[in-house]
Amino acid sequence: MNQSKDEIICEKCRVHLVSTKTKLMYQGVRFDAELLKCPKCGQAFVSEELAQGKFHEIEIALEDK
Ligand SMILES: [Zn+2]
Repeated sequence: MNQSKDEIICEKCRVHLVSTKTKLMYQGVRFDAELLKCPKCGQAFVSEELAQGKFHEIEIALEDK
């Protein structure tokens, strides 16, 4: 196993995901996130790092609503 996050492939399309800087907004809060996206089907994959950071905050905000 020698998998970096740049080498994640879409299981559907078998193509490498590309890192895309995306502006996300949730309940008026804007932030930039680098998401890995499949260039073919557009499926976005959330990195572990992101899932434990910003997206965790989103989850909290969701529960709070
Ligand atoms: Zn795909």
